[in-house]
Amino acid sequence: MIVESFRLPPLDDNAYLVVDEATREALIIDPALGAQTLLARAQELGATVKVILNTHGHPDHTADNAPLQAATGAKIGIFEVDAGRLSRNAREAPWYLSAPPPASKADLLLKEGSEVRVGSIVLTTLHTPGHTEGSACFYRAAEALLFSGDTLFAGSCGRTDVQGGSPARMVSSLRRLAQLPPATRILPGHGPETIIERETWIADLAYPVV
Ligand SMILES: [Zn+2]
Repeated sequence: MIVESFRLPPLDDNAYLVVDEATREALIIDPALGAQTLLARAQELGATVKVILNTHGHPDHTADNAPLQAATGAKIGIFEVDAGRLSRNAREAPWYLSAPPPASKADLLLKEGSEVRVGSIVLTTLHTPGHTEGSACFYRAAEALLFSGDTLFAGSCGRTDVQGGSPARMVSSLRRLAQLPPATRILPGHGPETIIERETWIADLAYPVV
């Protein structure tokens, strides 16, 4: 399995290109405004993008869902609770986008435990609300790898003072992630990667974080 990360506009969002080496089938996690960059790299690797996953419905992460899907025919997957954000995002531009992102629609409405398969790669959906109601992480137990979106960052977590945010649910979600094997590699939606055993601050969370 090849995993490449890309730091992309509009908000230094991390996108990930995940390629199954045997079949050259690929998935992209949170394209942000990186459709062209991601497509160019997929082409260089001889990879066919089959699935676009969103860790949550915020437009900085989902902005290029539609052009990426138009170019690849890939299915879009998002946790079902956040799916409605994809059409709502098209109604108005946030401050960091010059125009509303084109509407996209979920083809895969993910639930807790849903498995997403691309070639021999299987990612399991973990519902981790707190940043949004439908935030999710995608876990590959076989390689001890977690795409953590805006739930867990290196040394911190995503904001909970945004619409759909919940400090109490964030604490529950972080405590859940802290139970993963200590060597689990964390690939977040912003900032550098980390591993679970470095995130010792989670154990000290006594009160909801804001
Ligand atoms: Zn977000």
